[in-house]
Amino acid sequence: MTHPPTRTYWLEHAWLDTHVEPGVAVEVADGAITAVRTDVPAPPPGAEILRGLTMPGLANAHSHAFHRALRGTVQVGSGTFWTWREVMYAVADKLTPQTYHALARAVYAEMALAGVTSVGEFHYVHHAPGGARYADPNAMGEALIEAAADAGIRITLLDTAYLSSGFGQPPTAHQLRFSDGDAEAWAERCSVLKERDHVRIGAAIHSVRAVPADQLETVARWADERRAPLHVHLSEQTAENDACREAHGCTPTQLLALHGVLGPRTTGVHNTHLTAEDVSLIGGSGTGTCMCPTTERDLADGIGPAVALQNEGSPLCLGSDSHAVIDLLEEARAMELDERLRTRTRGHWTAATLLRAASADGHAALGWQQAGAIEAGALADLTTIALDSVRTAGPLPRLGAETAVFAASAADVRHTVVGGRHVVRDGAHTLVPDVPQALAQAVDALRG
Ligand SMILES: [Zn+2]
Repeated sequence: MTHPPTRTYWLEHAWLDTHVEPGVAVEVADGAITAVRTDVPAPPPGAEILRGLTMPGLANAHSHAFHRALRGTVQVGSGTFWTWREVMYAVADKLTPQTYHALARAVYAEMALAGVTSVGEFHYVHHAPGGARYADPNAMGEALIEAAADAGIRITLLDTAYLSSGFGQPPTAHQLRFSDGDAEAWAERCSVLKERDHVRIGAAIHSVRAVPADQLETVARWADERRAPLHVHLSEQTAENDACREAHGCTPTQLLALHGVLGPRTTGVHNTHLTAEDVSLIGGSGTGTCMCPTTERDLADGIGPAVALQNEGSPLCLGSDSHAVIDLLEEARAMELDERLRTRTRGHWTAATLLRAASADGHAALGWQQAGAIEAGALADLTTIALDSVRTAGPLPRLGAETAVFAASAADVRHTVVGGRHVVRDGAHTLVPDVPQALAQAVDALRG
């Protein structure tokens, strides 16, 4: 990522973590914020003007880019998570480094248009169909890294260990391209991946189904040695809990705790079907929780105990996961609204808390500790929401956070700035000229 030179942004309204501040000047140099001045009622000469509500850039903490090709297709008829997975595998079978690059570039461009400045890509399609290695064994991961660069956003490549189809079962034919054979081989391949200006390398355990218990520690140690983020799909389905109890006599959370996987750099994704003890183990260890409510709704997973988890000390972040939609504001809104339906009471999360989950805490879960704030020293990642669209016009600007979370959508994102670079300007992507066409072509290439 090349950074533009020093510049000044003038924010008509800025979300400063606790309140909306009118008229804020933000100085940026080398991709980072060097100064923030309030009480600046008019744009300084030469400043880039961001009209609307500017907040720290959004972090999409859980993505499988290729699932975007399933949009619409998997909404036909009924089915379960497990029938959905068969359709997903059929698409995964068709990916090559070239087609995956084209699709991910378009998907990450869609994310930029939705205000996302960092994505956590939970990546497990490592090898060719059948499991043959590409000339570069990291060709697929590199395709994703390049796609993020082309779309102008940051990526944390959560390189995922996926070694078995279930407890004590080898990978199925579809899953052979996900597997490195064992965790040592996974670690050896991942160790070659290099961090770059826009890239962090993290680890993932696909699930307790997909990594044998005696190999969990290898993955956890690899992440620990690098102080890298470690993510894991956790108790998304009750069937996983039942199979884990049968194989190991404990819950997936207990199994992870036993093998040293939980901790402050670890994030459990979904954390849906948990016991009270699981909630204590996750919260007490400082393990994060990534909720993906639009996907969890779509797959009829259930509503996880997010409020209890946060109360026990588990920070919340958000992801669009299967990309049924890509809209972090919708994910944030769903947290509160789903909880209202479940409990028939209101006020579980404030807009401020949900924006923190969609930004600072999401970035922290992806290893971007300096992102997610409009303050000196932070990365110059900004997302501006229009306050004059049909959805957002009317409320007072000081209610900008409530308006953004409870009424706005991705369509209201007007500007996305990543490291001081304008990636989305006035609702148009500056690097990918026609994002809908890029999506249509990339998805079409995987059809048939
Ligand atoms: Zn996922």
